[in-house]
Amino acid sequence: MLQEEERKYIINTYNRQREATPLLVRGKGTRAWDEKGREYLDFVGGLAVNALGHCYPPVIEAARRQLETIIHTSNLYYTEPQIELARLLVNNSPAGKVFFANSGAEANEAAIKLARKYSKLYVGEERFEIITALNSFHGRTLATVTATGQEKFHRGFEPLVPGFRYARFNDVDSFRSQVSPYTCAVMVEPVQGEGGIHVATEDFLRGLRRLCDENKLLLIFDEVQCGMGRTGKLFAFEHYDVVPDIFTLAKALGGGLPIGAMLCSEEVSKGFSPGDHASTFGGNPVACAAAAAVVKTLLQDGFLDLVQQKGTFLINELKRLQKLFPRLIKEIRGMGLIIGIEVGSKARQLQRLCQERGLLVNCIGEAVLRLLPPLNVAEKELQAAVEILEDVLKDEKDE
Ligand SMILES: *Cc1c(COP(=O)(O)O)cnc(C)c1O
Repeated sequence: MLQEEERKYIINTYNRQREATPLLVRGKGTRAWDEKGREYLDFVGGLAVNALGHCYPPVIEAARRQLETIIHTSNLYYTEPQIELARLLVNNSPAGKVFFANSGAEANEAAIKLARKYSKLYVGEERFEIITALNSFHGRTLATVTATGQEKFHRGFEPLVPGFRYARFNDVDSFRSQVSPYTCAVMVEPVQGEGGIHVATEDFLRGLRRLCDENKLLLIFDEVQCGMGRTGKLFAFEHYDVVPDIFTLAKALGGGLPIGAMLCSEEVSKGFSPGDHASTFGGNPVACAAAAAVVKTLLQDGFLDLVQQKGTFLINELKRLQKLFPRLIKEIRGMGLIIGIEVGSKARQLQRLCQERGLLVNCIGEAVLRLLPPLNVAEKELQAAVEILEDVLKDEKDE
């Protein structure tokens, strides 16, 4: 059995549970199938990666065409898809320039390096510290895991990278109290994903912008999870009327192919000179071609408005369930189609029950169910998912 071989050959970092964890062999749109032909409604979406569902035809077509043309060149040479994607991202955001990486952690790593380099060169040689939020998540490399304000991710990997301080999310005063002559930047997620789906308040992000301006700090937004249309705008920060100096993307950017991006203002891009940063695979033509197809789809007239409408519909339906099951559902949090359901200590059990009934949802820690349906999910698929959740909660309540 393949699941047994996984245990034998792959280091156990994901704690997959043999038969209890589906082995997915095929996907189409919002649906995925396991090796026994069992169908699932997929509201995990590869952890916010499959923003257009599984095997979205324009993404496949763009990637296929590129696979048959030229797969990889290294960044010693120009390629068309990389330049096209850069143009699309820069022309549709406040950014002036982009650097391409392969993942969220790498995009954030680039942001951290750029913030330090720019600040040392143009603001003050002594500056290197970055203030991040408690409960944040920025990746698993040594620098990004240090930036992550959750101790459980640090344990055993000390000594951590110097130069990070932590402050309370949605609390500007807490951030202000961590500013020192050594500070170069503030980095936060506009919607904390792995921390349990916590949405930044308007006062918080605007307050951070002001704090950064007053102290000549760079404001970095990690949009690896909440960016690329997830909240109903191309970038989550657009809901706040706040412009960051640097922001990062990954997860949904490649429509399923691995790619990350770090974008910054024209001014801040002066921090990097040739040789300062690089990535062998970064901006790979196949990933860039797929990503360009994703961006063009998100920019289609009315697409993002529909995401907002679907998000409002789903959140309202979940609030209806909360009224029916107030002891099981403590809180519904989210924005657009990134939604957390706070369920006390029942999350894992509920997740398993949903899966048994054909709905894949994700579980953050022990207390939060996370829903990340594709952005082009149909309303009847949202309804079907809500019905499964309702059945599961009903049974739970009767126990
Ligand atoms: C997933 C995630 C990352 C890390 O991305 P990887 O591609 O797994 O390295 C960083 N920041 C946020 C907000 C994330 O959700």
